[in-house]
Order: sequence, then C-alpha cells, then structure tokens
Amino acid sequence: MSAVTAQALREELEALALAALDTADLSERATHLRDAAYLALDLGDTPQAMTHALACLEAARRTADLALQARAHVTIALVMGDVHDDVGAATHFREAEGLARSARDARGVAVTNVNAAHYDQERGHFASSVMRLLSLLRSPYASAIHAEADRKGLDQVFHVNFTRGASNALLGLGVDAQEVRDRLDGRRLDIQAQLNTSVAALLRLYRGEVPLANSRWQTDVLEALLMHARLVGDSARARALADEWVRLAGDWDVSAQLGRALLGRAELRAQLGEWPDVRADAGRAAELFGDDHPSRALSARQLLARAFAAQGEWRAAFEVQQALSEQAERIYRAFMQQSARLRVIERQAVEAEVRAAAFAEAALRDPLTGIPNRAGALRRLDQLVRSARRGRPCAVALLDIDHFKSVNDRFGHAAGDEVLRRVAATVTRSIREVDQLARYGGEEFLLLLDGLSLTEARRACRRVGQLITEIDWEDVAPDLRVTASIGVAVVKPGLNREAILREADAAMYAAKAAGRNTVRLAVTSV
Ligand code: GH3
Ligand code: MG
Ligand code: MG
Repeated sequence: MSAVTAQALREELEALALAALDTADLSERATHLRDAAYLALDLGDTPQAMTHALACLEAARRTADLALQARAHVTIALVMGDVHDDVGAATHFREAEGLARSARDARGVAVTNVNAAHYDQERGHFASSVMRLLSLLRSPYASAIHAEADRKGLDQVFHVNFTRGASNALLGLGVDAQEVRDRLDGRRLDIQAQLNTSVAALLRLYRGEVPLANSRWQTDVLEALLMHARLVGDSARARALADEWVRLAGDWDVSAQLGRALLGRAELRAQLGEWPDVRADAGRAAELFGDDHPSRALSARQLLARAFAAQGEWRAAFEVQQALSEQAERIYRAFMQQSARLRVIERQAVEAEVRAAAFAEAALRDPLTGIPNRAGALRRLDQLVRSARRGRPCAVALLDIDHFKSVNDRFGHAAGDEVLRRVAATVTRSIREVDQLARYGGEEFLLLLDGLSLTEARRACRRVGQLITEIDWEDVAPDLRVTASIGVAVVKPGLNREAILREADAAMYAAKAAGRNTVRLAVTSV
C-alpha cells in the first residue's frame, strides 16, 4: 500500500481550491469544493472544510441539480459532525436525504446514509449505524451500492462502515449498545451474513485484488479488518493489522491519522491486557491529538489512566484522571467555541443568501404600490407567452388612469401617490390568484389574465374599470373622481411579447379616444 503524505494532501487541496475558482461550470466548481472540503477534514482543518463545504452548497444551489445539492449537504453534515455538532449534522443529513429522494437519486440516498452511518460511528453509535445500513440494504436505494460500475467506491465505503460498525456493536462497544441491543439481537443472522460479505469484500481490497477507489481509505480498511479480527478473537491477526495501520499512518505524516491508529492499537492491547504497550500507544496518541482533537485526546488519556490503574500505579492513574477533569472544562469550551465558529460561518452564508433573495425580490417590485414592477410583469408575461404556444388562452390589458396629471395638479403629488396605491390595491384584491397586476410605469398598469379568452377578459376589465370608479376618495379629496382607460389584447401563439404589448397599447389609446373610462379590444384580437 502506498503512502499518502500530509504535504501531498495540502498540495492537492490547494489545487482543488484554485480549480474551483477557475471554472465557470457551477457543477464542476461544486464538485471541486466538495473534494476540497473532504481533504481539509482529513487534514484536521475544520474551519477551512466548512468554508469549502458552504461554497460547494452555494454553487450547487445555483445549478438545478438536486443530487449535487444533496451531496453538498452531506459534506456540511460531516464537517459539523467533526466538531460534534450533532444537531447541525442531523439537520444537513435530513436535508440531503430529502433532496436526493425528490430527485429520485438512489445513489444520493445511499451516499447520505452511508455517510450518516460513518458519523454515527464517529460518536460511538455503532449499533445504530448497523441498523441504518441494514435498512438501506433492504430499501430500493440499495441498488446504488451493488452497482458494479461504481467507480467512486460507494460499495467500498459501505463495507468499511458495515464491518467497523457491526464488529464494534457485537463486541458490545460504543454508547448505544444497550438501547439498540434488542433490535440488534433480532437481526443477528442478517448482520452476520452481511458481515461475512463485507469482510470478504474488504479482504479483496486489502490483498490488492480489487483497487481502492481512494487511496486515503487504506487506513479505514485496516481499521475495519482489525475490529473484525478482534470480534472473532484472532489476536495474532489483529496485532498484525494494528501494526500495519500504525506504520501506514506514520508514513502519511498526518498527526491525527497517526493518533487514531495508535489509539486503535492501544484499545486492542488493552483488550489483550498488554498494559505497558497500552501506556506507550495511548500516551503518544494523546499528545498527537493535542488540542486540535480534544475528544479523541480525552479517549486516549482515559485509556492511559486505565493502563496505570491496571498496573497498580494508582498515583499515576489518579494524576492522569485529575488532569482529565481539569482539562474537561477547557475541552468543553474549545468544543463550544469551535461549533460556535462554524455556526457563525454557516449563519453568515444563510444571511447572505436571504439578502440576495430579498434583493432579487425587491428588484421586481414597485416600492410605491408594493405590486410587481415592469420587470416583474415582463417576466410573468414571458411565461404566459410560452404557455400560449402550448395552446393556453391568456389576455393582457394595459390600464391607464385618466387625466392623472390633473389629479397631481389639483390635489398635489401626495394625493396622486395615494391614487396609485389605492387603485393598485383595489384591482389586486379583485383579481384571481393566477392573474397579476403590475405597475408598468407612471400611472399605467399591466394586467395579465391567465387562461381567459378575449370575451372573458373584456368582462373582467369592465368590472375592474367599474371598481376603480367606485373607490372612496373622501379622505384624500372630496371632489376627486378617478377613472381608467383599458386596452385588451389576447396572447396569440404567433405574437411575441413586444407585439402583444403594442396591441394592448393601441387598444388603450382607442379607449382614450372614445372618451376614456372604457374598455377597448385590440383590433387583431377580435
Ligand atoms: P390621460 O388621460 O391621457 O392618460 O392623461 P394623463 O394626465 O393621465 O396622462 P399624462 O401622461 O399626461 O400624465 C401622467 C402623469 O402622471 C404625469 C406624471 O407627473 C404623473 N406621474 C407619473 N408617476 C407618478 C407618481 O409616481 N406619482 C405621482 N403622484 N404622479 C406620477
Ligand atoms: Mg399615461
Ligand atoms: Mg393617464
């Protein structure tokens, strides 16, 4: 098995971040950023991982690709899991699974669950992870795992996680062994059968008969096989695998990886009662984890204390324990700060997104009346033109307030504004949900009537004209009277947007010419 060095990982990470900046293709950018996030995680750089993961989600959201968005949520979940933010991780896993399901993306659902199982195991929920993987296997999404052509090795990760989870759970390790035990007992045969399959698959990888999809998974394969050797009581094999794991992780030169391997070997040695060796491995692991991985450092120190106690060195055991309690608060605070930092990064991203959405919304709305503006109206009109091509009837009306200039002149600009607001509100209230009234400009409004024929549209516009004459202006100016002239055109398949608007405009001028306060139809529409 070849070595992966921290230096090589860092270079790869840099290259990915640059490639993400370089490409204009959003899917490609999202993929690079996701890979960068995973690399940063492997290097133990959680804030950097979070930054890439969020940028990945942003790029993915700008594509219409739900499957890609689901993957981005999985990545964020794993970053949050890395700092023990269980709530955050669970939320993003749920989001990912929902998106993958609505995209009918079997692989996405499988990826989400395989990763969620990995996360379960990271926090010692081995039994739950096994139940999760078993239900995935029984679901229609299992095909994604069995797909031979899966170059990305989802099946490999599945086998690693199943073997590690089932071995730990059957050894009675982890924090949820008790609560899940009954369910686990009921499925023992299924678990055993799948465990045999998964171990056989891992052995093929270990022997190099099948290439690993990602060379960084070498240590995972070793860890899973080690746990299985412990389960079946093959100590010689377990020792050899643990030694190989430590050697390989040492070659990699990523301190957290070496720490994990040493802790894994220390746990085996504790099971075998080889306490002096436990002391050596656990002590070094604790140092390697240091403050960057406080929870793992804690596990290593706990094991160290057990080793001292097992050898009757009560004083040393007591001192390690005491140091642990003193550190606990510091560790806890570091956790919270780290989680809080990630939350801030995440919240800023969400806020930026909400702001962007609000800006986009505001750009399509008229501030005076609160109804859509010309840009908003044209966007909707384009939709209607498209559905007219598929044969759906639809009408467009231009509504212009009569003698509006004199409203301003006689009653003041503020009264004019109030007229615009009240006309907009009155008409908007009277039309259906599918219709839209927009402020086209000045005192002109565009009324889009979905699904209406010309006759129906004329009837609707007459009613609108009537409602406008009935508005009560008493509080604005007792002598104020407001009417409007309306021109109607139908959206016909051959006509483009501009031609339709020209027709409605001509009809509106015909209504003005006919004495105002009336509705006229476009000639070509009749
Ligand atoms: P017609 O019956 O032929 O439509 O006559 P009109 O006076 O309504 O038409 P004209 O185009 O001559 O005048 C429109 C006026 O609308 C001129 C402009 O000052 C006023 N106006 C445009 N936008 C606003 C606004 O936001 N608030 C107010 N108060 N007035 C506005
Ligand atoms: Mg006008
Ligand atoms: Mg006017």
